[in-house]
Amino acid sequence: MKKIILLIFNIFISFSYFLYGQNMMSKEQFIEQLSKKYDSYKEANIKHRRFKHSDLQPLIENLKKSNLFKINTLGKSIEGRTIPLISLGTGQTKILLWSQMHGDESTATMAMFDIFNFFSKNDDFNALKQDFLSKVTLYCIPMLNPDGAEVWKRRNAYDIDLNRDALRLQSPEAVILKNIRDSLNPEFGFNLHDQSIFYTVGNTPIPATISFLAPAYNYAKDINEIRGRAMKLIAELTEMIYKFMPNQVAKYSDDFEPRAFGDNIQKWGTSVVLIESGGYANDAEKQYIRKMNFIALMTGIYSIANQNWQQYTIEQYNAIPFNERLLKSLILRSLSMKKNNKDYKIDVAYIYNEVGINGDRDFYYKNSIDEIGDLSIFYGYKEIDCTGMIAEEGKVYPKKFKDLKEIKKLNIKSLYQEGYTSVILEKEKITEDFTDIGVNILIKTDKRYKKAGTTLAEMGKNPDMVIRQNGKVRYIIINGFVQDIDNEQNTIINALIYR
Ligand SMILES: [Zn+2]
Repeated sequence: MKKIILLIFNIFISFSYFLYGQNMMSKEQFIEQLSKKYDSYKEANIKHRRFKHSDLQPLIENLKKSNLFKINTLGKSIEGRTIPLISLGTGQTKILLWSQMHGDESTATMAMFDIFNFFSKNDDFNALKQDFLSKVTLYCIPMLNPDGAEVWKRRNAYDIDLNRDALRLQSPEAVILKNIRDSLNPEFGFNLHDQSIFYTVGNTPIPATISFLAPAYNYAKDINEIRGRAMKLIAELTEMIYKFMPNQVAKYSDDFEPRAFGDNIQKWGTSVVLIESGGYANDAEKQYIRKMNFIALMTGIYSIANQNWQQYTIEQYNAIPFNERLLKSLILRSLSMKKNNKDYKIDVAYIYNEVGINGDRDFYYKNSIDEIGDLSIFYGYKEIDCTGMIAEEGKVYPKKFKDLKEIKKLNIKSLYQEGYTSVILEKEKITEDFTDIGVNILIKTDKRYKKAGTTLAEMGKNPDMVIRQNGKVRYIIINGFVQDIDNEQNTIINALIYR
């Protein structure tokens, strides 16, 4: 009898699922399935962070072919690049999303185009999409600062930080955001940024991959209904992101900044959710973080459409740890250094720094020492325990080379084993400042090494190091990258060319 009841029950469940389809789906089920299908929504024409305004235009043209999207031009940047408003939906609750007001913070722009693809695609979620778009209307401004994005910098073409221009409104881009906010008066706003990859979740080694904030609207950091709504929504988004990255969410500083947009838009009556994309191990192009933005924004849309956020509390928001800045790119722990015949035990931290090439989308790394001494309170994306190991300066290979071809023929590993980290190039003219060969190249001169003296660890400098264990070379540090001598693979992402 029990079995028959169970069978009937199962048939009933399957039948109702068939009838109601995705409307039966819980938020958790929806997001889980969405995550599995993410690759089918991921905009394939954006593969890396340093895309430009011109890269987005064909994608926006494509959206015009669909009657789902309305595309208006809000105005132009200082250098004349169009700033569009892409809207979809007919619902009563308005949501305004703006990304890349800082030109070199592009992660959410990528996610925005993934969201457009989600809504354009004909798939199992059709009923749910219709449901969303009958309840909310999305107004999206991807890349508010296209001039900054063009040269991969934070500020606009006049070097004004748009996020300090919310009151004075001297930048056309800031005027555009202010006008559209005032004309729509949306219930919710998503203010989309990237933060330093060196932020941690409180005092832990965990990178703050996503940080949220419901910005304060006054110095007292009061909580009114508008800000409270944003806080509850953030509590919900955090819970969802934890399913993908447990504990990898923090809160951005909530100090009131009277000139910033987030703070003012909160004051003007729109519940503002700030999303800051931080760092994630082995994700330099931020493609996993892009997916987390997609998940957070889709959860937000789901929640606002269904007023789900009301089930969350300000206490849950308050429980999210604040950002701390305790990460470094690399930490060498307990390294021994000899100075004046005395041994010193130190930790050395490097920070990796990208240098754009001719303002183009490509970059190379020019890294440097960021901190020296007792670094026990800091964490590294990569850490090496150098206990019992001694650091010495990398040497310059004595033979001078005529051209790069000759250098490329060298057995780099045997060079490392003898403690060489640089070679001299005599004749050939090259214009690049970096090389993927795995050793630094000195053009004409070895002055750099004579100048360096015996200073191995020096703030802001970028010395080559040879780290020995029991007399044998164990690690090579070139441009802040580590080569384990036993690793066949070249892990020096790029060395430098010095003139
Ligand atoms: Zn920013």
